[in-house]
Amino acid sequence: MALTPRAEVTGNPGNINQEVARLAVLAEVRSAFAWLRAQEPQLAHWQMEVARIAAPPFGESARGAWLADKFRELGLDNVHTDDVGNVFGIHPGYGTSFVSLSAHLDTVFPAGTPLTIRQQGTRLYGPGVSDNGAGITAMLAIAALLQAVRIRHAMPFVFIGNVGEEGEGDLRGMRHIFSTPRWNESIVYSVVLDGAGSDTIVAEALGSRRFEVIVRGPGGHSWSDFGAPNPILVLARAIQAFAQTPVPIAPKTTFNIGVIRGGTSVNSIPESASMRVDIRSTSMAEMERLEGALRLAIDRAVEGESQATEARVPSQRRPFGLSSEIVAIGSRPAGELDPRARLLQVMRAVDAQLGNSAQIQRASTDANIPLSLGREAIAIGGGGIGGGAHTLQEWFDCSGRELGLKRVLLTMLTLAGVSGHA
Ligand SMILES: [Zn+2]
Repeated sequence: MALTPRAEVTGNPGNINQEVARLAVLAEVRSAFAWLRAQEPQLAHWQMEVARIAAPPFGESARGAWLADKFRELGLDNVHTDDVGNVFGIHPGYGTSFVSLSAHLDTVFPAGTPLTIRQQGTRLYGPGVSDNGAGITAMLAIAALLQAVRIRHAMPFVFIGNVGEEGEGDLRGMRHIFSTPRWNESIVYSVVLDGAGSDTIVAEALGSRRFEVIVRGPGGHSWSDFGAPNPILVLARAIQAFAQTPVPIAPKTTFNIGVIRGGTSVNSIPESASMRVDIRSTSMAEMERLEGALRLAIDRAVEGESQATEARVPSQRRPFGLSSEIVAIGSRPAGELDPRARLLQVMRAVDAQLGNSAQIQRASTDANIPLSLGREAIAIGGGGIGGGAHTLQEWFDCSGRELGLKRVLLTMLTLAGVSGHA
């Protein structure tokens, strides 16, 4: 099926509010809500179990295998894992267009991080327990619910545990899904579950570009080779120049030099030096402009250090063996959901129905990929409350999880369509 490149625009929120209100009182939806209420012990159990399986970037296969087993136990159809490790399971409906519900499998924690996960009262503690233990658990809760309570939804659901959301994973799981014709042509709505909470709707994708800049030179002894070009001085010149680049407040655009490395000892002219640069913006054009400014700053810094070398040691002649390299280590596209898109209207109507208030946010999530393609996508939390994300002190509190799950369920059902009467 060929999809229109832009998000669908309905412009009729009144009908959507009525539709959500009608679904919320259907007998099967009420029994689904009641069923969810009783599941917390099982959900906490799954959440701790999954958080104990290491899933560093590029090392999600054990966690993926666990999820595939759960998908099979929960009766999803056609459970399979693709070439990069994304895990799929289908809950059938009618037609060939899907609503996807996805949660990233990976964590920021490197292999070997002790995964000590414990429960104390309503709280779970440990690395990855919320990001993305809460999202994976919410996805399993919806799959389990559809096995326990019979609800016929029109469009089929595809459940996806995807790889590569965090850091240098660089959204590789989602990129692969949306570059696979089968899914690119069939997923109409993407609901991404990321972390805890019920109070946000990520409908705007924050783009980023990340680079490693490496400068190399001949090196030498600090005394006897004095004057030879110095890669650390090149970086210093480049940073000084790049940091002067003006950035607009709107569209918000930022840069950071996050890591700097180089040299071997205090009395050696370094043979190499490197830095890692992060550029972010809500605008693709601004990111491109800043990338251009970075490249220019590096080129000028190499030239500046070359001239300085000639001034320090007049007998030195080019070439000195000074070179620079810029390696892209991450690129996340920007994009945003049309405010009139059906998915956003459904989410708003669901929040109104459940008495929930949520803020539209801009962030970098798996939703960046479909949003950058003009598709309808949002990222929301899996309910409950979380904190300490990306630290060993991460926690999750299940208080309010039920609201988050109702929110996900009602959104999925409204998007897919459900017939029937209260
Ligand atoms: Zn996450």
